[in-house]
Amino acid sequence: APAPASNFLRGIIDSDNAEAKYAGRADSSGAPLPAVITRFPPEPNGYLHIGHAKSICLNFGLARDYAGRCHMRFDDTNPTKEEQEYVDTILDSVQWLGFSWQHGNQDHLYYASDYFDRLYEMAEYLISAGHAYVDSQSAEEMAANRGSFAEPGKDSPFRNRPAAESLDLFRRMKAGEFKDGEHILRAKIDMASPNMNMRDPAIYRIRHAHHHRTGDKWCIYPMYDYTHPISDALENITHSLCTLEFQDHRPFYDWILERLTEGGFFRKPLPQQYEFARLNLTYAITSKRKLLQLVEEKIVDGWDDPRMPTIVGIRRRGYTPESIQLFCERIGVAKADSWIDMGILEAALRDDLDEKAPRAVAVLNPLKLIIDNFPEGETVACSAPAHPHHPERGNRSFPIGKELWIEADDFMETPSKGFFRLTPGGRVRLRYGYVVECTGCDKDGNGNVVAVHCDYFADSKSGTEGANNYKVKGNIHWVSAAHALETEVRLYDRLFSDPHPDAGGKDFKAALNPDSKSVITAYLEPGTASANADDRFQFERHGYFVADRVDSRPGKPVFNRIVTLKDSWAK
Ligand code: ATP
Ligand code: MG
Ligand code: MG
Repeated sequence: APAPASNFLRGIIDSDNAEAKYAGRADSSGAPLPAVITRFPPEPNGYLHIGHAKSICLNFGLARDYAGRCHMRFDDTNPTKEEQEYVDTILDSVQWLGFSWQHGNQDHLYYASDYFDRLYEMAEYLISAGHAYVDSQSAEEMAANRGSFAEPGKDSPFRNRPAAESLDLFRRMKAGEFKDGEHILRAKIDMASPNMNMRDPAIYRIRHAHHHRTGDKWCIYPMYDYTHPISDALENITHSLCTLEFQDHRPFYDWILERLTEGGFFRKPLPQQYEFARLNLTYAITSKRKLLQLVEEKIVDGWDDPRMPTIVGIRRRGYTPESIQLFCERIGVAKADSWIDMGILEAALRDDLDEKAPRAVAVLNPLKLIIDNFPEGETVACSAPAHPHHPERGNRSFPIGKELWIEADDFMETPSKGFFRLTPGGRVRLRYGYVVECTGCDKDGNGNVVAVHCDYFADSKSGTEGANNYKVKGNIHWVSAAHALETEVRLYDRLFSDPHPDAGGKDFKAALNPDSKSVITAYLEPGTASANADDRFQFERHGYFVADRVDSRPGKPVFNRIVTLKDSWAK
């Protein structure tokens, strides 16, 4: 694994550790707590995407590097958008990326909804202490009185109602006496604050809705900005990392924890929020709403379509968890937003797969090559290294016979300048096989080449003495027509052809790459027939491919192109 690069968050942790800021803490059972506890807190309202992977690698990675721990927490406070299906896929994606919320023998999997009782209790305290009040304005009145950046807000006429009255209303809100929106619980801070988030933000609202975990127990639900700091403090989180758009929410995060610490609910040191730049990846979109649109309008084949930037999509495409971790390590974390080029993600993938992936031969655009002087019905075994840089991984073997498949574009009847592959009268080496000399071609009624003819030199076989007597410029790949695995291959490319598909409110559907998927029948080296789902190969001269994890069958894998060998998008 690469040495972790330094970044501003490591700097903060290092200086906290130097001051022993979080040293010597213990949990409620007296067990010692590590000095670094982070968390990954998704809302279970959709599939994770590559942006979340950055947050996962960051939070779990820091915990790993500082011998701390990272909590897996679901921020499930919005009952109408959340589902168990999303909880399951999120857990699966985090594990696939190589991380675990198991530390020692403890399972650090949490749900904000498990804190509903305590969140409620703390809200009652805030009311009693004069830090919160029930507002009975309509949503319109509240919006109108909120003011703007240029103008301070106006106090609600209910702002100074007695605490006892607020408490009674809040209890009746909980008891289900009111309809959605009739009342709301707000923190009492400052309607003139230049920070809009401090203008008496809502902390509880009425919502008569079924929750995927708490059922119909509650009809009031805590707001995200209220729940988040409290969940962090309950779990003894030290460094609460979030994306930059939450910077303006930090004063409220601190305000809540200070008030509750005064109330005896928490002890210092408190968790501290830090913001980092979210991942913006070119040629991709990561908005949940727009990804949903791609799925619902069947522009892609589901959430795990190999072109989707979702973790399930990336996984099916053939990305390795290590390549994603490598990518996240390389891009690092910064305090200002920027764009990361898709080429950087693909380069991390190539770097990871080049070492790992065994080689195989695949003919994607087949043309028949007939060796006229090869004995009918006979075959000769050829062999090639499983990996060119790792002889210890052994050899693969495959037969050569009279009829082969070659790539159609490895033949030109009338060669263009600099074309050194197959052409009438010319010689090439059939990689790992023999040198052949082209004798001509067959055409159909329209003049299309349907087969190429050649003669081989029996003493030219690769790996034998005689091979050195033949000097040829071209070296082409092939598979035996009688032995090849004929199977489906999906040639995937980037989903969008515009680096910023949804910038400036553009219609992202206009930026779709029409060539992002093509399905072909290809002829593969016979040994690939035994590939298992998720097995990856480098198909020589073509790129990296994976046996599709959904559609492959025993003896009949179908392959997805993960990425080409070279970046054809680089300018
Ligand atoms: P929502 O629109 O539902 O708020 P979200 O994209 O914020 O969606 P969450 O499920 O709340 O998704 O995100 C979980 C964590 O992942 C958060 O801490 C969030 O900051 C982080 N995250 C989300 N998108 C990115 C991104 N593009 N880059 C880095 N981190 C991200
Ligand atoms: Mg969110
Ligand atoms: Mg979001």
